[in-house]
Amino acid sequence: MRTPTINFLRQISTSYLNLFIVLFLSSITAKINLGSPSIVPNSDILSLKTLNLDGHFSFHDVHHVAKDFGNRYHFVPSAILHPKSVSDISTTIKHIFQMGLSSKLTVAARGHGHSLQGQSQAHEGIVINMESLQGLEMYVHTGKVPYVDVYGGELWINVLHKTLNYGLAPKSWTDYLHLSVGGTLSNAGISGQAFRHGPQISNVHQLEIVTGKGEVVNCSANHNADLFHGVLGGLGQFGIITRARISLEPAPKMVKWIRVLYSDFSTFTKDQELLISAEKTFDYIEGFVIINRTGLLNNWRSSFSPQDPLQASHFKSDGKTLFCLELTKNFNPDETNIINQEVKSLLSQLAYIQSTLFISEVSYLEFLERVHVSEMKLRSKGLWEVPHPWLNLLIPRTKIHDFAEGVFGNILADNSNGPILIYPLNKSKWDNNVSVVTPSEDIFYLVAFLSSAVPSCSGSDSLGRILTQNKRVLDFCEMAGIGMKQYLPHYTTQEEWQAHFDPRWEAFIRRKSAYDPLAILAPGQRIFHRQYASPDADLTSIA
Ligand code: FAD
Repeated sequence: MRTPTINFLRQISTSYLNLFIVLFLSSITAKINLGSPSIVPNSDILSLKTLNLDGHFSFHDVHHVAKDFGNRYHFVPSAILHPKSVSDISTTIKHIFQMGLSSKLTVAARGHGHSLQGQSQAHEGIVINMESLQGLEMYVHTGKVPYVDVYGGELWINVLHKTLNYGLAPKSWTDYLHLSVGGTLSNAGISGQAFRHGPQISNVHQLEIVTGKGEVVNCSANHNADLFHGVLGGLGQFGIITRARISLEPAPKMVKWIRVLYSDFSTFTKDQELLISAEKTFDYIEGFVIINRTGLLNNWRSSFSPQDPLQASHFKSDGKTLFCLELTKNFNPDETNIINQEVKSLLSQLAYIQSTLFISEVSYLEFLERVHVSEMKLRSKGLWEVPHPWLNLLIPRTKIHDFAEGVFGNILADNSNGPILIYPLNKSKWDNNVSVVTPSEDIFYLVAFLSSAVPSCSGSDSLGRILTQNKRVLDFCEMAGIGMKQYLPHYTTQEEWQAHFDPRWEAFIRRKSAYDPLAILAPGQRIFHRQYASPDADLTSIA
């Protein structure tokens, strides 16, 4: 056996990466690794204790990171790194890289652990608790082109609070802000502002990355651009985001928050597409599907006012499939009259059911924190930490009607398991060089089935029922040639990953080979599996 040197490892080619892929995961189906035979020698783990760090490792009490929001996958790590500095992360990864293939240690960054299928977990590897970098100060630049410099483990809610102090805020959001900057930038970060500003990954000026070789690299669209683009939407495969420079805009004080209903899907999508394509339009455009629900408008009344209370009280939702268009218009209190006029004019172009116009006025912060309010309610009822078999799909515009016809009210008889979001996005606002894959059409829809498996809601096996339903939706997409791409993708075979990245698979492999040639990073995504590479591999014959 030859021990590879670092210089040599730097030259490892794509063909070496292919070895990992060929040896891909076929046998990993277990979702819980407790009790499976150990793959990491104790000496590797003990070697971590020799590292000179500002922070520390914990080797016991590691089970809480073998869990995520999805609450279905549990991979127990060997250690948790609580870094106090970027250098702690670099030192640790460099150490593992220098061990070469003789070590089976892998590394997963954990933002806030809100993944769905173990993506921020590492079976017998090291989980980096990115939030421990949090104490370090954010820097807000208030010039002509404002931005904020943040650490990768920072939560978006903290970024919002900090920037609001300067009358500024990031432009593009997720619906829920208790997610980390590094976590959402590794996916895309999509919400109702993305039609105009693009996803969060389109609103980043610069990144600082620790690669799979332990190097600390600064990058942007002009400098080390390949790494910059690779990491954005890169599922944590190419490096760990330790810092990000996020674009800001002046923050509004208030938000006019509007909901209207449609019973006809074509009219609903026509209006959504009209709004996302218009120059003068709303600031946030989303939508959701309501299947077979009763008393819907009564539920809204606690936070929204019907514009025509009498007509609204006569509206019956029972049994129908309805589509809710959700909109906001930002404003400052001194602009109330102008904004009322603008909203009136925009609404007059839409063909919603007139009696279902509901409006609310809240602060910008309240609006952006809306899902956290639901979280607190669900937590108080013990309904937050349940399994979440979510399914997020990106559907090309020309297929959205086929999709709706096949799925809503058909495969899905109701949406009692959770919300189903549906809204269009403009492809022109997405950078084609980043790693995330989307349908190729100019407009595509995000359709998000945000299910919670609550055992009492319909019999004993509600998780199984939802998973079966998800599979039926995916099978339908395949059969009907919908051409969808999964968002927050999860696959278990190499063929599926290859099909997902197609035609970008080669680019993905090339970047992996360049920035994480030993496949140390993001083992929980299960794209590349280090553990199947032979420790005796003669690398010279592979390279
Ligand atoms: P984690 O789950 O900790 O990590 C996610 C992945 O990124 C893992 O592979 C991890 O290893 C990697 N990673 C984490 N930090 C870093 C880093 N610093 N550098 C490199 N890789 C890293 N998404 C949307 O786009 N729009 C939404 O509106 C939206 N709403 C959501 C609402 C809720 C309630 C939840 C639970 C999730 C929502 N998401 C949404 C999904 C969310 O973007 C992803 O689940 C994201 O992964 C969660 O971020 P996290 O910080 O918890 O990341």
